[in-house]
Amino acid sequence: MIATKGYAAQDAHSDLAPFQFERREVNPHDVQFDILYCGVCHSDLHQIRDEWGGSIFPMVPGHEIVGRITAVGTHVTKFKVGDLAGVGCLVDSCRQCANCQEGLEQYCLVGNSQTYNGLEQDGKTPTYGGYSNLIVVHENFALHISKTLDLAGVAPLLCAGITTYSPLKHWKVGKGHKVAVLGLGGLGHMAVKFAVAFGAEVTMLSTSPSKEEDAKRLGAHKFVLTTDPDSVKDVKGYFDFIIDTVSAPHDYNLYLSLLRTNGVHICVGAPPTPAEIMGFSLIGGRKSIAGSGIGGIAETQEMLDYCAEHNILSDVEVISIKDIQTAYDRMLKGDVRYRFVIDMSSL
Ligand code: NAP
Ligand code: ZN
Ligand code: ZN
Repeated sequence: MIATKGYAAQDAHSDLAPFQFERREVNPHDVQFDILYCGVCHSDLHQIRDEWGGSIFPMVPGHEIVGRITAVGTHVTKFKVGDLAGVGCLVDSCRQCANCQEGLEQYCLVGNSQTYNGLEQDGKTPTYGGYSNLIVVHENFALHISKTLDLAGVAPLLCAGITTYSPLKHWKVGKGHKVAVLGLGGLGHMAVKFAVAFGAEVTMLSTSPSKEEDAKRLGAHKFVLTTDPDSVKDVKGYFDFIIDTVSAPHDYNLYLSLLRTNGVHICVGAPPTPAEIMGFSLIGGRKSIAGSGIGGIAETQEMLDYCAEHNILSDVEVISIKDIQTAYDRMLKGDVRYRFVIDMSSL
């Protein structure tokens, strides 16, 4: 076993603290890499606090991981020592079910292995995430990272990036579409960048007036303050798609009223409590409410390659691991511009 150090939550109520644990030895198809940067996703906070239920402790969060390969198994063909590599939200899946065969490992019918707060495919070994100094992973679940991009800005692509890229691709969002991005945080700012890059007209729907300038800088064509009823009135029945990245409970009926006929409200944000949706919010205008989870491995690689080609990165604030609690507090207040990324050399 390989001695590893990280930061862990011991239960749903305590702060993260240093934690020693072990990773498996490098198997023939595994790669081992030193983690250089790890992004801080709102999902980390939901899971540390057990807001979705079923959390496994101790928990080492982190699923926006980039680093450099230090060892490869005897059968590894995709990577060599010294290469850059990334790991997102998945470290394994059954690899055989219909969804895995189609590259939809995020919807593995048997149950995938999430990077942390999950179990390996043996069903008993807990997984530990990227708030740590190294990781060992099957080469099929490691991603290639371009040498040309800033690594701290790449890390959030592994979750915030793919989670917004995947639904935009699935619904073929592009030229001629009017898209709203709801919530300007980690996912929201990537959704703006991708939707703009794909040619859509993009409107930012935000509760924070202070983010208007940033939204425009990120490429949004319009900004609507959702706490101002008059501004909201102007976009009633306007959008083809809403990408909803909000992490807290909110009124879906209000946002459904902003969709045009046949419009789709795509949930990627995962508030911890159920929402009340009126049938009439959907009936009038044949509207849909849908969801989307991260993305498969092949699509994640496609997204990373797209970002390298189009110079798309996350806007990050690099922090030291000792400041993680402050980062969480700020994230809860919506004060993220627009992703915290931990410099792992601070561990
Ligand atoms: P984040 O950086 O904290 O951003 C969330 C944004 O939502 C905030 O910046 C804020 O934007 C807005 N917001 C917060 N509370 C709100 C409220 N009560 N009403 C309206 N807007 C509110 O979070 P994130 O990392 O982007 O993650 C967002 C959500 O996506 C989380 O629930 C996370 O677990 C989930 N997620 C899902 C997937 C998936 O596969 N589907 C993957 C990753 C994350 P404004 O200031 O602009 O209003
Ligand atoms: Zn995430
Ligand atoms: Zn599967």
